[in-house]
Amino acid sequence: MSSPGLNNGIRVVMLGPPGSGKGTQARALEQRFGARQISTGDMLRDHVQSESELGKAAQRFVESGGLVPDVIIIKMIEAELGESRGFIMDGFPRTVAQARAFDAFLAGKNLSLTAVIYFKADHQTLIERLASRWTNPRTGRTYNTVSNPPQVAEIDDDDAGPLMQREDDSAETVTKRLQVFEEQTSPLIQYYRDAGTLIEVDAMLDVAHVTREIEDALDPESVPT
Ligand code: AMP
Repeated sequence: MSSPGLNNGIRVVMLGPPGSGKGTQARALEQRFGARQISTGDMLRDHVQSESELGKAAQRFVESGGLVPDVIIIKMIEAELGESRGFIMDGFPRTVAQARAFDAFLAGKNLSLTAVIYFKADHQTLIERLASRWTNPRTGRTYNTVSNPPQVAEIDDDDAGPLMQREDDSAETVTKRLQVFEEQTSPLIQYYRDAGTLIEVDAMLDVAHVTREIEDALDPESVPT
């Protein structure tokens, strides 16, 4: 069976620090562009929960807020993508080595990235945002108890199941994740700027505003597919 949008030509990477809205925007754009969101964080959490071999190898990195080794991630993504031609990557690549491997993987299929959206955000705001983030572990939908609360506290609006706070959203682990972003992921800003694919958005604006900015930048009329 093919998923919707499997052959759509939009190939987008969401690049930004934790809590900057990558997942929220990726889910909003899935419908609009018919390309599916691929969240490496969600995939890894599923593996950890199901205690797969990959999950056992990844667990300590995910829980401490460090990065899972490149080779594990690259294999996981290549298996997930298979023959897909369209995707919205949420949380991958996170290192220059991952980005290079990804470019080579796409080039092997005669493909390249349509765009890389860089979510520019102020770190102090992110720490506050993540402390008030609640997630539906079944769907990945997120809420913010200050700016975007569920109708009933700790209950998902869609499936009425319980919401959870991610363990790695604790203040201590968030600080580590931000530091990891600065040290290991932020070099990708220049990497993709040099490649000519970087689009910068102000991730401190409200959700709808950021969605509009990205939609305008990715308008199928104006980007090659
Ligand atoms: P996220 O949900 O995107 O914040 O990811 C949660 C955690 O999963 C990260 O803190 C990392 O431990 C791990 N992770 C997710 N994506 C990657 C990646 N591309 N490379 C390495 N580790 C990753």
